[in-house]
Amino acid sequence: MKTSDIQKQNVDFLLSQIKTLLCWSRENFADKIFMTSSFGSNGTVLLDIIKKIIPDVQIYFIDTDYHFQETLEIKEYYEKNGYCIKTLTSQTEDKNQQLYTMGHDICCQINKVEPMQNLLAGKEKHLWITALSRGQSDTRKQIPFLQPTNFELFKLNPMIAWREVDIWYYIKHRELKYNRLYDRGYRSIGCQPCTMPVKPGEHTRAGRWQGCDRQECGLHTKL
Ligand code: SF4
Repeated sequence: MKTSDIQKQNVDFLLSQIKTLLCWSRENFADKIFMTSSFGSNGTVLLDIIKKIIPDVQIYFIDTDYHFQETLEIKEYYEKNGYCIKTLTSQTEDKNQQLYTMGHDICCQINKVEPMQNLLAGKEKHLWITALSRGQSDTRKQIPFLQPTNFELFKLNPMIAWREVDIWYYIKHRELKYNRLYDRGYRSIGCQPCTMPVKPGEHTRAGRWQGCDRQECGLHTKL
C-alpha cells in the first residue's frame, strides 16, 4: 500500500465513524441538535459532512467583535451556501469598551462564555455538536465522544480522532473553501488580538493567547 493510499484509508475509517455518530445523533435527538462553529479547519470538514446527514442543523457562531475579516468572510460564504447560521453576541451594555485590554479572562467570559451560557440555558434535552479533536492541544487529549455539560443537554465531539493531516486531506480532496489565514501560517483561528501564526514544531493551538499559558477560552472547559 502506498503512503497516499494509507492516508485515504485512514480518512475513510474516520468518515465511517463520524457518519455513525451523526446518524446516532439524528435518531436520538431528531430536531434537537445544534452545532457551534467559528469556521476553522475542523469546522469546515464537519460542516461538509453534517449537511448530508442532518441537513437542517442549526449552527451558532459567537461574534466577539474581534474576529478577523477572513473569518467573517468564510461565515458569509456558508450563509450564502444554505447553512442555517445564527450569531450570538454579548449582552453587555457597553459594547464600545475594549474588553480584551481588561484581561483575557473577563473578555472571553463576557464575549464567549456568557453568550453560550445563555444559549445552553434554553436548550434542554438538546445535543450540542462540536468539531473538537484530541490532537489540538494538551487540554483536549482526553475528550470523549459524548459528554455531559453543566446544563440539561449533552455534547457530542464526533471528530476527536481526526488529526490535522486528516483534516487537510479531506479539505483538499473535497476542494472545500476554507479560511484564508491557514495559508499564512495560522493553524487555529480565534479572535484577532489573541491569535498568531504558529512556528514549525509547535502544537496547533500554540498561536492562541501567546505569552500566557491560557489554552482555552472557557467554552469547552467551563460549560
Ligand atoms: S479570544 Fe481574546 S479577544 Fe476573543 S474573547 Fe477571548 S480575550 Fe477577548
